[in-house]
Amino acid sequence: MRAIISEKEVQDTVLGVFKYDENIHLWRRNIGGVNVANTNGKKRFVRFCQAGQSDLYGYVNIICSKCGTITKGIHVEIEIKASNGHLTTLQEQWIAQTLDNDAIAFVFKPRTNEELLNCRKIIVEEINKHCPHCKRADSQEKRPEKRTIGVEEFKRRYGKAKKRVSPKSR
Ligand SMILES: [Mg+2]
Ligand SMILES: [Zn+2]
Repeated sequence: MRAIISEKEVQDTVLGVFKYDENIHLWRRNIGGVNVANTNGKKRFVRFCQAGQSDLYGYVNIICSKCGTITKGIHVEIEIKASNGHLTTLQEQWIAQTLDNDAIAFVFKPRTNEELLNCRKIIVEEINKHCPHCKRADSQEKRPEKRTIGVEEFKRRYGKAKKRVSPKSR
């Protein structure tokens, strides 16, 4: 086992694995820029994409083994990391923003060769965690208890219910 797996190797492997996949479509984002010369000879820097955006992007069909539904065309962002890589703040923010908008975003950082070889399984599992049907059912289960309580419950908690005073009897 090698000590470090480079980001380029991870990226090439992932792109290769899903190249002909019917449900997971990924492209590489060229982040960075080049110096180009204008016709007048002046150089200027042309930036591609925004710092923090993920290395790979695309769309996927979520095939959920839990509930058996297929959800097509969900946007995905995957930040690729070398086995010793770290997320920058901007990368973290990009992922958070993507998730906030109900698209999929995650980091793929294989720590071992085995994890790299298993990238298909790991990535498919990560994507399928985002099944919108299962997420909805989940959030309904975790919904906090009702805020209103009945008269009986009020009495149990706070003693006698307050008597209503009608304007006439005042
Ligand atoms: Mg990266
Ligand atoms: Zn599901």
